Amino acid sequence: MTRTVYVNGTYLPETEAKVSIFDRGFLMADGVYEVTSVLDGKLIDFDGHMNRLKRSLRELEMTCPLSADELLAMHRELVARNGIDQGMIYLQVTRGNPGDRSFLFPDASVPGTVVAFTQNIPHLADAPAAKTGFRVITIPDLRWSRVDIKTVQLLYPSMGKMAAKKAGVDDSWFTDEAGMVTEGTSNNAYIVKGNRIITRQLGSDILHGITRAAVLRLATEAQFEIEERPFSPAEAQQADEAFATAASIFVMPVVEVDGMPVGTGKPGPVATRLREIYLEEMRKAAL
Ligand code: PLP
Repeated sequence: MTRTVYVNGTYLPETEAKVSIFDRGFLMADGVYEVTSVLDGKLIDFDGHMNRLKRSLRELEMTCPLSADELLAMHRELVARNGIDQGMIYLQVTRGNPGDRSFLFPDASVPGTVVAFTQNIPHLADAPAAKTGFRVITIPDLRWSRVDIKTVQLLYPSMGKMAAKKAGVDDSWFTDEAGMVTEGTSNNAYIVKGNRIITRQLGSDILHGITRAAVLRLATEAQFEIEERPFSPAEAQQADEAFATAASIFVMPVVEVDGMPVGTGKPGPVATRLREIYLEEMRKAAL
């Protein structure tokens, strides 16, 4: 089946979708994005993702041509037209096409570009990786210092994924100048010690994960203690468990850091339970 995608108000086959070569998203990575997962044909934590989109746009003095209601209707339309039961919707908003290349932002009369497409992932909820867990390596965090804005500037995270692939593992965790873990290439990072879940505090040096916010809320309700502070790779190696969160992986156990097993070297009970609670609660609240 040919995928139907959305470009600036129109639904069309992916082979016919076009964006200008002058689009600032293409020339300058001047754009922001969101990825919302779909379970049972419904959107998971959609409001959370749209609130963060608004924040990213505001931080970059951008506007979105679509209202909140229009964005929801468009996401639902893409799910319906592509028959998605489990998968993801990728949404990107750029500063548009000023008709030429210039470092200066174009004036507000240039409309932003909005594109969106689906990814069909039949086993998103029961992903085999969740049963074995991720193995990660650590690499220096060489991204710019506003990674709290979800921009399409993803070259370094992409290099981080390639470094992981070359090392034969699943992902890279970034470390700051003090050697402390910031986050994964496309996920937030956690360790578990007893009843305590430890994850880096929010700031401009990590993305404010929508899954992170939900998991910390649900973990608090389930009587876990939350400690928001940096941790080192060595502390992760000595922890009982580790895990990562993102819309694309929900709660993913992390079983190895830099070649050393974490805990038993197998997915632990806390990460496994949090994944179950997250999936159950978010499915109930899906739109
Ligand atoms: N951190 C980074 C760098 C990311 O790219 C992502 C998701 O793409 C996350 C964390 C997790 O965010 P969310 O839970 O909103 O998917």
